[in-house]
Amino acid sequence: MTGDPFVVVGGDAAGLSAASKFRREADRDVIVFEKGRWISYAHCGTPYFVEGSVERLTDLLSLSPPAAEERGIDLRRGHEVVSVSPADRTVTVHADGERFDQPYAELLVATGASAAAGPFDTALDGAFTLHGLDDAAAIDAYVAAPEEYDRDRLGDGPVDADRVDHNVALDPPERAAVVGGGYVGVEMTEALVARGVEVHLYQRSDRLLPPFGAAAGERVESTLEAQGVTVHTGTSVEELVGEGRIDALRVDGGTRPVDMAVVGIGIEPNATLLDGTGVDRGPNGAIRTDDYGRTNLPAVYAAGDVATARHAVTGEETWVPLGLTANRAGRAIGSTVAGDPTPVGDVAGTAVVKAFDLECGRVGLLAEAAADAGFDPVGETITAGSRSGYYPGGDETVVTLVADRTSGRVLGGAIAGEDRAAVRIDTLATAIEADLTVAELERLDLAYAPPFSPVWDPVLVAAKVLNGRL
Ligand code: FAD
Repeated sequence: MTGDPFVVVGGDAAGLSAASKFRREADRDVIVFEKGRWISYAHCGTPYFVEGSVERLTDLLSLSPPAAEERGIDLRRGHEVVSVSPADRTVTVHADGERFDQPYAELLVATGASAAAGPFDTALDGAFTLHGLDDAAAIDAYVAAPEEYDRDRLGDGPVDADRVDHNVALDPPERAAVVGGGYVGVEMTEALVARGVEVHLYQRSDRLLPPFGAAAGERVESTLEAQGVTVHTGTSVEELVGEGRIDALRVDGGTRPVDMAVVGIGIEPNATLLDGTGVDRGPNGAIRTDDYGRTNLPAVYAAGDVATARHAVTGEETWVPLGLTANRAGRAIGSTVAGDPTPVGDVAGTAVVKAFDLECGRVGLLAEAAADAGFDPVGETITAGSRSGYYPGGDETVVTLVADRTSGRVLGGAIAGEDRAAVRIDTLATAIEADLTVAELERLDLAYAPPFSPVWDPVLVAAKVLNGRL
């Protein structure tokens, strides 16, 4: 052990979870380098800030810089780590126009990901990606009528005020294109509708939210259409067009007028600081990690959106950039570096999203992915009431359940409905983690009372039907 500190790169979910846990367990120094001004912020809440259901931008902050320092974390904002030298165990840092080398005893790369823009010119006024609080503030300002704009909603955080001022001064949009029908696209569609903007949602593949399966995708599409959204599935947007400000899309060989676009076509891991180090990479260029978050470089760990993880169903390497994955891996690495080796845990790809009142959840492998992974999948989709039929407030809940024909093991599932459908996915996530068979799932003693569930919860109905087939 050297006298050098544990160095963490990235001051959000994975990085600060690691630093906080490390400081609770070890009496050694930890430095967190964060290139931006914000720390400990919730990306996940940004669509709801734009929508208006989160009152202030600063409500999305968790740990303040003084609170981080009280925990004994040496926090350096405005410090970008530009390269790593594993041989010298140093990182090179840029801050205030200067460059310096910082030695480390252990290094955690928790640099997250960046929004992919693909071929789209998001430098045009009115064209945005959403990855961070400054993007959310800029979108909110652009959508607002200047005379109605409420600057108090920004709170007292280190927002990019020039970018906000620039966007407030522009005429508010009437018609927006959301490019990409993943969860960010769906959430932003809802947010823009709530702000009174006419929305066209473009999705290249044949259905929205592909990882959530066909039944959920169809229900999301009809829910959005019922709210006045025009959904264009099977449609590739080719270009955002405009001089200075967006005024059209190029799509299907023609142009369609719009005065706003939100591009949500995916993210890319921020891993360039490890270029040239010989670090191993996994899917999508994410940094390959083992059960303890270690990379192949000595004393170098990676966690969160920048890192791979092991899939709970296949046991193979995967890349599932989600919030709990990042927090959990960071916390485990904090313990490990402090001297208590703790596995980061497998991921099952458990995810939930809502479109207006419709909730959708998904976990594990649906049929196509299961077949690709070498299973012999068999699936059933059922519809069942969410509460006893005589009790008000229920909704039809659609459950897709997939199992392996040979072993009967639960491989994955998806659930959609308006009445607490999203939380029901956690039953399936637990079944997958516990390696339950469909027969075992069917025998679970799930709770029943009329306001919450029928006697046979929709998950049990799906298990019963699928087990019958098996
Ligand atoms: P980040 O949160 O991205 O943090 C990485 C930090 O590293 C950043 O602050 C960055 O500035 C800093 N950094 C990068 N490079 C450097 C460098 N070279 N030097 C210094 N600092 C650097 N997940 C869910 O589970 N549920 C949701 O509902 C959900 N909704 C989302 C909605 C949106 C709009 C977005 C964008 C994401 C959402 N996510 C959701 C994903 C979730 O936010 C991420 O999985 C999580 O934030 C990843 O945490 P992280 O610490 O790995 O990366």
